[in-house]
Amino acid sequence: MNLEDYRGIWVYIEVKDGNVAPVSLELLGAGRMLADKRGTELGGVLIGSGVKPLATTLFAYGADVVYVYDDPIFEHYRTEPYMRALLDCCHKHKPEVLLYGATPTGKDLASAIATDLPTGLTADTTILDIEEDTGLLLASRPAFGGNIMATILCKKYRPQMATVRPKVMKALSPDPARTGRIIEEQIELHEEQMRTKVLEVVRETVKKARIDEADIVVAGGKGMGSKEGFQLIHELADVLGAAVGASRDVVEAGWIDHHHQVGQTGVTVTPKIYFAIGISGAIQHIVGMQNSELIIAINKDPNAPIFQACHYGIVGDALEIVPLLIKRLKEE
Ligand code: FAD
Repeated sequence: MNLEDYRGIWVYIEVKDGNVAPVSLELLGAGRMLADKRGTELGGVLIGSGVKPLATTLFAYGADVVYVYDDPIFEHYRTEPYMRALLDCCHKHKPEVLLYGATPTGKDLASAIATDLPTGLTADTTILDIEEDTGLLLASRPAFGGNIMATILCKKYRPQMATVRPKVMKALSPDPARTGRIIEEQIELHEEQMRTKVLEVVRETVKKARIDEADIVVAGGKGMGSKEGFQLIHELADVLGAAVGASRDVVEAGWIDHHHQVGQTGVTVTPKIYFAIGISGAIQHIVGMQNSELIIAINKDPNAPIFQACHYGIVGDALEIVPLLIKRLKEE
């Protein structure tokens, strides 16, 4: 493999309900920084049905060029046709770096591509950098239970691939004056050759605000004592119009499902206000909420590590304080 043949930083552009997923815009922001440092182009690969109009919107967020595969066969995400299209694009244009959001779709597609191309994949990256001279991608992620950051390198193969956690990178403020090129690609795929079919799409009914999009997250830990005690977290969240978060120990205790888990093996959140109630503040939890604008902790142990990570801390029994807080907020 001649590494010199590979040029450009690419982002796989994920489309969700007809819109570009926020994580793809975040990755264009990170990709722009890498491309400028390396002195190369930033590309997006857009695959879907009826997605071509979205291509032009990506220039404002930093893309120089967008490769588009627009065909009814891509109506719903399926590994096989998407993988075939992205492989086709990689073989034709040879990117030096290819980034995906660490979403269910991004993780699925990236691992499928990594099995076909002679290259590796760094999963769940939280820091990205590049060596300007060599183009070596420095993809860092928490390792050993979040105790160290490991920087993973792919020295001999291209493209260098990474999935990147949503909400960790920042999208650029859109600049409508920026323009770029659209390259329309085609690949011959026949429905009858596909091994999977989408028979029906059943949407999950989410009653509460999505935790990774909410302005306020009220998160509870094992300090709430029991599933019944954890109901106070739901009540406080309702009063504030907030989403409910949880520590892993709460999820493992079965008080709430995994969608609500914040941290290294859960979701990363960056709300305006994050309440950490009865949460000790283990590093694996902190990495998932430390970039929140304002962190308020309630814990009965004055030495709990969460007090090192919060802006305001209340030392006391959450089972007493939270009902008072709810009562006061309801009065307002
Ligand atoms: P505890 O550690 O039991 O802490 C409970 C806290 O509540 C204590 O600080 C206590 O002082 C306080 N408390 C008790 N009673 C009250 C009361 N009445 N009022 C107020 N405060 C009270 N954890 C995550 O959260 N997210 C992750 O993604 C995650 N990933 C992990 C990945 C790996 C590989 C590993 C090894 C661990 C991971 N963990 C994760 C687990 C993490 O290490 C901690 O075990 C977990 O976060 C602890 O949850 P907790 O704070 O709810 O419980």
